[in-house]
Amino acid sequence: MESKLCDIISHLANNVSYYKERLPKYINPHEQIDIFLEIPIITKETVKSNYIDFFCDQLKENDLNFLFNNEYYKVKTHPFILENGMSILVSFTSGTSGTPMMIIRTPDEQLKLNAEIWRLRNKVSHIEPKNLLYRVHLNSADYPFPFDPNKKVEYRIADEIAYLNNNKRYKWWHIQAQDLEKYYQHIIKYSIDFNIDKILQYIEYTSSFVSNEVRKIYAETFKCNIIDLYGCLEIWSISQSCKHGYHHVNERSVIFEIINQNGCIISEPNKIGRVVVTSLIQKVMPFIRYKLSDKAYYMESACECGNPAKRIVFVHGDERIVGTKKNGKKYFETIVDMMIDDYNIDNYLSIHVTQVSANEFDVNTRRLLGSTETFQKKFEEIASCLYPEDKYKYYFTYNDALIFEDIFSVSFK
Ligand SMILES: [Zn+2]
Repeated sequence: MESKLCDIISHLANNVSYYKERLPKYINPHEQIDIFLEIPIITKETVKSNYIDFFCDQLKENDLNFLFNNEYYKVKTHPFILENGMSILVSFTSGTSGTPMMIIRTPDEQLKLNAEIWRLRNKVSHIEPKNLLYRVHLNSADYPFPFDPNKKVEYRIADEIAYLNNNKRYKWWHIQAQDLEKYYQHIIKYSIDFNIDKILQYIEYTSSFVSNEVRKIYAETFKCNIIDLYGCLEIWSISQSCKHGYHHVNERSVIFEIINQNGCIISEPNKIGRVVVTSLIQKVMPFIRYKLSDKAYYMESACECGNPAKRIVFVHGDERIVGTKKNGKKYFETIVDMMIDDYNIDNYLSIHVTQVSANEFDVNTRRLLGSTETFQKKFEEIASCLYPEDKYKYYFTYNDALIFEDIFSVSFK
C-alpha cells in the first residue's frame, strides 16, 4: 500500500492541475503519509465545479468539449477513443441529489477495479464468472435469465424465483438490496421454499443499508450467506462484510478515513463521522480524500473473522426518517426540547436516536444522571403526544461510549 500511495501522490503532483501547486514534485516515501494528510478533502461539488482541474494532463491534451455537451450525456457509449489515442470510459452518477457527476476511467483502470471485486469474492469462496448471476438493472439487454422479463414485476419475480429454484449453475448472486427485498417479500407471501438444493451459496447486495437483523432473516429465507458490498460509483468497491457481518476496507485499492464536522480524522472507536475515500487505482480522474454523504464509525477490538483491519459500521447519511418525508433531526430535537421545557429533563450529556427498522428506534443516552424509568416514560409520552399518528417503538440504551455528532441517524435500508 505504501508504494501505491507514493506513486499516486507523485502522479498528482506532476500531472493533475488541482494538486500540482499543493504537492512537492518529489515525494520521499518516509513522508508520504504526512503529505497525504495535508491534501485537502474534496466533495462532489469541488470536482463538479471544475472537472478540468481534476483531469490528468494526458486527458487534457484532447478537445474535451464534447464531454460537457448534453448530447454526449445521452449516448454515453463505451469505450471512447480520444484524439491522442487514449481510450476512456465515461459514466455518470444517478444525480438524484442534483446534476449527475461525470466519472472518467481508462478501460485498464476499470479492469483493475473489477479485478478487486473478484479478488474480494474469492477471498470468501472460490468463484468464477460463469457461476455469478449479475442482476442489477432491469434493462432487457442486461437481463441475465434465459427468458424475456415479464412486464408485471410480480410475475417477473415469480419466473425468476422458479428459475433459481431449478438452478444448477449459479453459486453467487449480485443484486441491489432494494431488489433483494422484493424477492424476500414474494417468497414470504407465497410461502416458497427457496434454494432447496442450496446450489446458490452467496448473495452479495449493494447500494443500500441493511441491518444485521434483516441480514439474518435474509440468510435464513434464501438459505445463503449474505454479503454486503459497500462502494460508490466514483471509486467502485470500498469494503465488504465478512462472515460476522462487519465491514473491512479493501486496503489494496482504497484508503479509508472517517472525519468529524471540523474535518479532523476520527481514529477512535464508536465516534461517528463522514466517510472519506481515496482510490489507489484511478489516475486519469483521481478521487483523493473524497468525502461521501455516508457516515460510519469504527468498532472496538478485532473481528473474530481474523481480518486485522478495523471493523466499520456504516450509517445512512440521509437525515430523513426512512419511509417518510420527516427530517429525523428536527423530529427528535422537538421531543428533546419539550422534555427540557416541560419536565426539566436535561441531566444527561447527549441523546442519539438510530432508526433500526421502519417503526423501531434505538435511543441511546449518555451519562444520564436521573432515573432511566422517568426518562423513558417522558420520552414516549411526548413522542406520542407530538406525533400521535406514528406508532413507533423505542428501545432505550445508556451506552456512554457511543458518540454521535447528530441527534439522528439511520442504520438500515
Ligand atoms: Zn470480520
